[in-house]
Amino acid sequence: MTRRLLVAGNWKMNGLMSDGREFIDKIKKISSDVDILICPPATLIDFMVKVTKGSKLSIGGQDCHFEKSGAYTGDISASMLKDLGASHVIVGHSERRANYKEINKVVRAKATMVNIIGLVAIICLGETEAERDNGKMLTVIETQFLESLPEIATSDNTIIAYEPVWAIGTGRTPSVTEVAEAHRKIRELAEKKLGLNVAKRLRIIYGGSVNQSNARELFAIEDVDGGLVGGASLKAENFSSIIEAGTF
Ligand code: PEP
Repeated sequence: MTRRLLVAGNWKMNGLMSDGREFIDKIKKISSDVDILICPPATLIDFMVKVTKGSKLSIGGQDCHFEKSGAYTGDISASMLKDLGASHVIVGHSERRANYKEINKVVRAKATMVNIIGLVAIICLGETEAERDNGKMLTVIETQFLESLPEIATSDNTIIAYEPVWAIGTGRTPSVTEVAEAHRKIRELAEKKLGLNVAKRLRIIYGGSVNQSNARELFAIEDVDGGLVGGASLKAENFSSIIEAGTF
């Protein structure tokens, strides 16, 4: 079973119109078999969808509300992201889990709404440093996976991003063996929950300090189907090198 690699950039709260245009002009020139997704701030989605039209780049959201619409000042719904042309939505990023106290139940509700309206949910999960030091990595992964996954999840509407919290934005990454162990665990859990065929197709990407130097090694690990890239996705040169690292 060959799963297409996905390299996804999460710009977080970075980027203005001028950054978007320059970035896209450079990335559009890359020829690669890897699927490429950029999740800019919501303010840039409309613009980036328009400037990437006709290219193989997809544009996604970084978060959404779990309701379709309603009295939620300042929030954005999955339907609104779809309306702008987004294809994917990141849910359960550790920054949302930590800063906005988003528990698994909320992450599942958001992912479910993303699926209901026909977009792909990228569900983030991963242990903190304390959990890792206490030998709880696999248990945390299991709980987050089982409690965050929507009932309607399939390998077409869901991607799992394994993102150890301690590796995000720190320049530190787990060893190849540790990443392999985490991803294998997620695939085993997926098999139990969704069946062998879906589990074989499900894309499980790695996130946490992916950069131009480590991407090739990380993407070569069995059960790693690409990366979710934060800091290194902000500069077109760095992001291009990471995309190229996925072309074996
Ligand atoms: C992220 O925020 O999803 C992420 C992986 O960030 P970074 O690549 O900067 O560690």
